[in-house]
Amino acid sequence: MLDAALFGLILVSLGIGFLIGRQERRHQYTIDSSTGLDSEYFVGLNYLLNEQTDEAIESFIRALELNSDTVDTFMILGRLFRQRGELDRAIQTHQDLLARPSLTREQMLDVQLALARDYMKAGLFDRAEALLKDIVRLNGRRWRGWRESVNALLSIYEKEKEWEQAIALLATLKGGMSQEYANRRSHYLCEVAEKAIMHSDILSARKYLRQAVRASQKNVRVSLLLGQLELRAGNPGDAVRALEKIISQDLAFIPESVSLLEEGYSQLSSQRGLTTYLGRCLREAPSAAVIMASSSLIAQQQGEKEAGRFVAEQIIRRPSLKGLNALIDIHLQMTDGRARQNLVMLRGLTGRLEDSKPVYRCRLCGFDGKDLHWQCPRCHEWGSMNPIMGLEGE
Ligand SMILES: [Zn+2]
Repeated sequence: MLDAALFGLILVSLGIGFLIGRQERRHQYTIDSSTGLDSEYFVGLNYLLNEQTDEAIESFIRALELNSDTVDTFMILGRLFRQRGELDRAIQTHQDLLARPSLTREQMLDVQLALARDYMKAGLFDRAEALLKDIVRLNGRRWRGWRESVNALLSIYEKEKEWEQAIALLATLKGGMSQEYANRRSHYLCEVAEKAIMHSDILSARKYLRQAVRASQKNVRVSLLLGQLELRAGNPGDAVRALEKIISQDLAFIPESVSLLEEGYSQLSSQRGLTTYLGRCLREAPSAAVIMASSSLIAQQQGEKEAGRFVAEQIIRRPSLKGLNALIDIHLQMTDGRARQNLVMLRGLTGRLEDSKPVYRCRLCGFDGKDLHWQCPRCHEWGSMNPIMGLEGE
């Protein structure tokens, strides 16, 4: 409905624009009916009255003599075509505009950006990329569409996973702009580092991760990747140091580091180091993962019963479904007969309940799921998905 109303308004404004243009021209010369302008206009009007919108638009476009006053109207028309998914017509409208010699430099850039948007929506990413590259390279921040062009180009690189190109583009930004994109740059470097890790290129991965830290000290992804990398490279001390940095970066991500820390401290044969760090986490940011890791340490040192007592104390203080499941698991090992059967049944139910819950949620748009996406699939923000805390989460 909104589209139809907007179309109507645009058509009326095209018609008015034409009439004003015609009146102005009357002062200068008499309309020559052989040009066909007049007849096209009335044909268009006729189509409009008969609600033949598409034909009406085409007639008006043919009829209108384009001048700088009507560029904005055509821009709206082109955008509307794009929004309606009529991409051929959107592209045609913008290409027609580009062919006009009367456009100002600003208008020319605006039309190029609009055309790039058409190409993107049509899936013609190579064409969009080439166009955007040119307008970003040749123009500065003073042009109002510059930031939008940079973001559009970055979104193409992200879609195509051309991380090196994205990093190179961000390297051209200066001052405040560079700060604004620091988090994004850090994640792009993490993407390249992950690729290097996949190819067992440890040296390159370390280099990219060092750059990623420099870009953003707060990016927990760098610490997690460094932890994985150094464990794989046989440097558990470095892995532990990197992972323990998370406590000063983002408390919500401590649960993500716990199993890697268990592995690191195990390679270092330092149960004491792990006990000390988990104790600190329990005080500063208790979570189900920390409680479970602490309880398995207690079980090894003092037995299952003590571990059960510890978990029970913790979940009274800080109830969570995961904690309850951990408690049932401990009791399952110490119970038999009928009581055990009941516990197995209860564990089945609470297990299913836990499985039905999302694990991560985007703090910006609320998208949630079982997997941790470093770029939110819905709002495309980087580093906005966090582990869910509380009763149904950590
Ligand atoms: Zn989101």
